[in-house]
Amino acid sequence: MNTFSSPRVPLHLDDRISLASGIGMPPLGLGVFKVEDGQELVDAVKSAIRLGYRSIDTASVYGNEAGVGRGIREALAENGLRREYLFVTSKVWNSDLGYEETLAAYEKSLELLGLDYLDLYLIHWPVDGKYAEAWRALEELYRAGRVKAIGVSNFHVHHLETLMNRAEIVPMVNQIEFHPMLSQPELRDFARKHGIVLEAWSPLMQGGLFEEPLLLELAASYRRTVAQIVLRWDLQHRVITIPKSIREARIAENANVFDFELTEEDMRRIDALNVNRRVGPDPDSFDF
Ligand code: NAD
Repeated sequence: MNTFSSPRVPLHLDDRISLASGIGMPPLGLGVFKVEDGQELVDAVKSAIRLGYRSIDTASVYGNEAGVGRGIREALAENGLRREYLFVTSKVWNSDLGYEETLAAYEKSLELLGLDYLDLYLIHWPVDGKYAEAWRALEELYRAGRVKAIGVSNFHVHHLETLMNRAEIVPMVNQIEFHPMLSQPELRDFARKHGIVLEAWSPLMQGGLFEEPLLLELAASYRRTVAQIVLRWDLQHRVITIPKSIREARIAENANVFDFELTEEDMRRIDALNVNRRVGPDPDSFDF
């Protein structure tokens, strides 16, 4: 297994990046943001699992945990797999941040998903004055063995510092907006120093990267797609990635990134695209 003290580039979909809890997290998973609950979602989750994905990322605010759960249960049954084969993530929404509220939100997510534990539970956004209490609830769930790993999402360095001043357990994962236009060097440094694994949301910048000339040039020279170049760049940065698609061909394409390697020079050229441009809200100024 890959450890964060000496992380190597993940070798395949079955590989694992080691979290501070000791469990391993798959390097690439399926994201399901903005996918409506329903058959299309169930089919996307099933396609992903059939294609070898072992990780699914949802959140209570996506309103689709029930469909994700159905897809998971059907795929496990149809492929003769056990629950432990998969790594399932969900997130507590802002209106549920608080000790009791967060404990209750966890139960609600489990109920909707039809699962008896999650592999990873995250605080979705760092709502001022609220995330420390919610973190106490996550620590409790983790200590009680109800969840395999706990972490945060959309935390800047200063949010992490504030949390870690009070926390007993350091967040194991920080899921952040991360793509070539926003490659977050400061957060990457901080995370490396503290053993926090980073996970990229909107790794494809929600479709905003496909006309970028450098990425098109690299796609042509490696005989890959732009999506594959970008997802490979995530992996070589040891950042877990969760591209979203509901189309089977793209779900397959996005996972087909373990059999080529970007040169150090090309990694640096992609790094140089960073302009701190976000497609999502800034964690310092979101208003929800
Ligand atoms: P993304 O960057 O994964 O882009 C998705 C878009 O790219 C979709 O329109 C899809 O059709 C298209 N696409 C996917 N693969 C493609 C391919 N191979 N070729 C061409 N187009 C392709 O955007 P996202 O959904 O915002 O982010 C991924 C996941 O991250 C989400 O689904 C969700 O699980 C998570 N997320 C988390 C947060 C958070 O606050 N923690 C915020 C946003 C997203």
